Amino acid sequence: MSFIDTLIANTIRPEVQADHAYVVPDADGYIKLDAMENPYSLPAHLREELGHRLAAAVLNRYPLPSNATLKHKICTRLGVPDGYDVILGNGSDELISIMATAVAGGARRPVILAPTPGFVMFSRSAMLAGADFVGVPLRADMTLDKATMLAKIAEHKPALVFLAYPNNPTGNLFDPAEMVEIIRAVGDTGIVVVDEAYGPFARTSFMERLPEFENMVVMRTVSKLGLAGIRLGYMAAAPKLLAQFDKVRPPYNINVLTQTAAEFALDHLEALNDQATLLIAAREQLAADLAALPGVTVFPSAANFLLVRLPDADASCARLDADKVMIKNVSKMHGLGGCIRVTVSTPEENAIFLDAIKASLTSH
Ligand SMILES: *Cc1c(COP(=O)(O)O)cnc(C)c1O
Repeated sequence: MSFIDTLIANTIRPEVQADHAYVVPDADGYIKLDAMENPYSLPAHLREELGHRLAAAVLNRYPLPSNATLKHKICTRLGVPDGYDVILGNGSDELISIMATAVAGGARRPVILAPTPGFVMFSRSAMLAGADFVGVPLRADMTLDKATMLAKIAEHKPALVFLAYPNNPTGNLFDPAEMVEIIRAVGDTGIVVVDEAYGPFARTSFMERLPEFENMVVMRTVSKLGLAGIRLGYMAAAPKLLAQFDKVRPPYNINVLTQTAAEFALDHLEALNDQATLLIAAREQLAADLAALPGVTVFPSAANFLLVRLPDADASCARLDADKVMIKNVSKMHGLGGCIRVTVSTPEENAIFLDAIKASLTSH
C-alpha cells in the first residue's frame, strides 16, 4: 500500500472509509425539481433592501454566539410557545448531527430509530456519531406501522427517534394520535424529534404541544420555505434538554451573513408565506393533473413535493432527463417501487414536468 493509503487505513474510522460523500447531482441546464427548493426568489425591492443590510453586516467580528435577536424573532414570529427557546443550526442537518453526537460516543452505542423510507440524514448522522440505526418500514400506504414501531421501541430503547412531519420522501403527515402514542411509549429513555422541515406547506404542527411532552424536540428549517441557500435550522424543546444540546453546538455555527439575512426575512415573512400559499395551490393542481393520467398514482402530500407511482419509472425518468427536468428517482427505495419524488414549482415548470410524464406514458 502507498503511504497515503496506509495513513488512511491507520487513521480514518472503518465505517467512514466504507462510506461515500453525500451526492448532489450537477443540475446545470436542468429544471431543478429534485431538492424541494422554493422556485421563487424574494421580490426585487426586498432583495435590494437585503443588499443594504448585508453591506452593513459586521464581517470582521465573530457572530454573537447567543444569536439573541434572531432567536427572539424566530420564537415570536414562528409560534414557539412561551417559556421555550430555540437553538440554531447550520441547516437542520447540523441539528440532527448535534443531537446524534449528544447521545452517542464514548462507551455508549445507542440506537437511533426512524421510519423508513425517511430522510437520509437520520441514518447518516447515526452512523457518523457512532450509533446504531434501526429503520422501521412504513406500511404500503406510507402510514406508520405503529405496532412494529412500539415493538422496536420496547426492544431497542432508542435514545433518539425521528418522525418527520410531513415525511420525506413520502410527503404524508403521520397520524398525530399515533405519534403521541410513540412519544409516550419512548418516555424518559428517549428523545423524539418531530422534524417539521415541510411545516410551511402542512399548516399543522407539534410546536404548540411542546409543554405536553418533555421528551419532544420540534425541529424546523427555513430551507424549504425559500431560504435553502442561507443554511438555517432551529429546534425547540424543554429548556434543560436544549441546554444539553447547546454544549455540543459549535459556538459560531451561524455566520453573520446568515444571521442578517434570516432576521431580514423574518421581518418580511409574509412574502415567503405568500409563496408557500402559491405552492400549496400548485401542489393540489399538479396532483390532480397527474392522478388523471392512466396508471399513475399520486400519494397524499402536505409538503412541497409529490410522491408519484408510475407504470414505468425508469422510462419516465429517461424522458425527464432528456427533457432536462431533474427529479429524484426513489424507485429503488424499500416500498417505493415505481416511484419518483418531484418538487412542486411554478405553473410553467410544473407544466413542463407534466408534459414529459405524459410523453413517457404514451411512448412506453
Ligand atoms: C430537507 C430536509 C431537512 C434538511 O434541512 P436543512 O435545514 O436544509 O438542512 C431536514 N429534514 C427533512 C425531513 C428534510 O426533508
